[in-house]
Amino acid sequence: MQVLQNYINGAWVSSQCSSTKAVINPANGEVLAQVPYGEATIQDVANAVAAAQAAYEEWKRVPVLRRIQPLYKLKQLLEENTDEIARLITLECGKTFAESKGELQRAIENVEVACGAPMLMQSEFLENIASGIDEYMIRQPLGVTACIAPFNFPAMISFWFLPYAIATGNSMIVKPSEKVPLTMMKIFELVEQLDLPKGLLNMVHGGKESVDAILEHPDVKSISFVGSTPVAKYIYAKGTAHGKRVQAQGGAKNPVIILPDADVEMTTQIITDSVYGCAGQRCLAASVIITVEDNGNMRDALYAAAQNRKTGFGLDAGVEMGPVITPESKQRIEDLIALSEKEGGSLLLDGRGASISNFEQGNFLRPSIIENLPLQSSLMKTEIFGPVMTLLSMKTIDDAIAFVNGNNYGNMACLFTSSGSSARKFRNEAMAGNIGINIGVAAPVAQFPFSGWKESFFGDLHGQGKHAIEFFTQTKVVVERWPKEWTRKF
Ligand code: NAD
Repeated sequence: MQVLQNYINGAWVSSQCSSTKAVINPANGEVLAQVPYGEATIQDVANAVAAAQAAYEEWKRVPVLRRIQPLYKLKQLLEENTDEIARLITLECGKTFAESKGELQRAIENVEVACGAPMLMQSEFLENIASGIDEYMIRQPLGVTACIAPFNFPAMISFWFLPYAIATGNSMIVKPSEKVPLTMMKIFELVEQLDLPKGLLNMVHGGKESVDAILEHPDVKSISFVGSTPVAKYIYAKGTAHGKRVQAQGGAKNPVIILPDADVEMTTQIITDSVYGCAGQRCLAASVIITVEDNGNMRDALYAAAQNRKTGFGLDAGVEMGPVITPESKQRIEDLIALSEKEGGSLLLDGRGASISNFEQGNFLRPSIIENLPLQSSLMKTEIFGPVMTLLSMKTIDDAIAFVNGNNYGNMACLFTSSGSSARKFRNEAMAGNIGINIGVAAPVAQFPFSGWKESFFGDLHGQGKHAIEFFTQTKVVVERWPKEWTRKF
């Protein structure tokens, strides 16, 4: 069985760590590879940081117009290899092939935006702040940066950071999720074809040990993390305690309000795609659906659409929903569905116990819908991260917005309506960082920051767009005087 190598200092090298963890296809339980996992990955991190530090010293002097040239080639290589990368995403992560291709497209869009670094890094200049004195601000890179990624978007999430980090003059270490390292392995095979200094981009495998080594290393200047809220909190606390700049995106439980004036057919389609797409393993998956003054039509339509969703192996034609990532994850979701009943909810649709023929070892669930869950129940505040809709009904938009604002998470909130004034009220009052109006997955395009709030984000500057440019640069302000009488005469 293949033991995955790290990519350090421009070469594929075996880990110093001999213990490994299996990378498993969630659709059939097949072991795809072994990934280094354990204490000794600490040494891998030390080697990667040393290489990244040396590369940074060279790279920061390369003009920004030249630094973006390899990114154009990276975009081309990602496009040429889309099908192969998407297939790998489906094999190790479980989502459908179409979802995998969509994810990769989002990664490529971030490469495109980072190519704008020569414009985006431009700064401020104020002439004559005092007599004969000018003042201006320049943006300079940080040094060695690190990205720690979750399992659910093996390609896209590192690209919220990676292209911006190098376009602005930094080096980077990527630590993919140990559950899905194969996608990033393939992407680094493409990185190898770019004309980059050795050590500029490195990949190290592992889990908590390698992450802790990154957090503690004095030469790592910033951490870009995406994952669950408890780990995001830990990364933020520990990273900042070690003097690093940290952006840490956490979990979610996204509410969606449906007003009585919403179009039933369109709303049903969009919301079921949001709840059950990627088997609910999206930080922007709709989770709690709140109908306002529903006469029953919306409930019936959501039920029918959920029930008809085709579950199966993501590479098979016609499949709309793949498995969840691990057997433990499946068990956790099934336990939470059971908890919903204990806490007073009822099951309109029970997706537990799914078995897909020829994929009996897979971690499959079918769509579930929980109704009547009390607002004070613990499940109402728990991220399920699986194909489960919680359906509530409320009397007014104000009640529904109050519920949205009581949410401990703030990744996304959406409204479905045909009323401009309701939409405007919601946009203004809803306390979440990504807002959808008649949109089910309000994922910002690469030009905009991915704006989680509350327990969904720890830090100041988010991934993507101008926020990423700001995150990966430090500002330097220059106050300058050139007295005429000091100018040498030639
Ligand atoms: P996770 O927190 O378990 O793991 C994320 C990364 O942290 C992995 O690389 C893992 O190796 C590492 N890690 C895990 N435990 C650690 C520990 N104790 N100490 C140090 N490092 C540790 O998350 P996951 O299960 O891979 O991903 C799913 C979660 O990510 C969900 O909660 C989802 O909502 C969230 N997510 C959020 C966003 C967002 O933009 N807010 C996007 C995608 C996923």
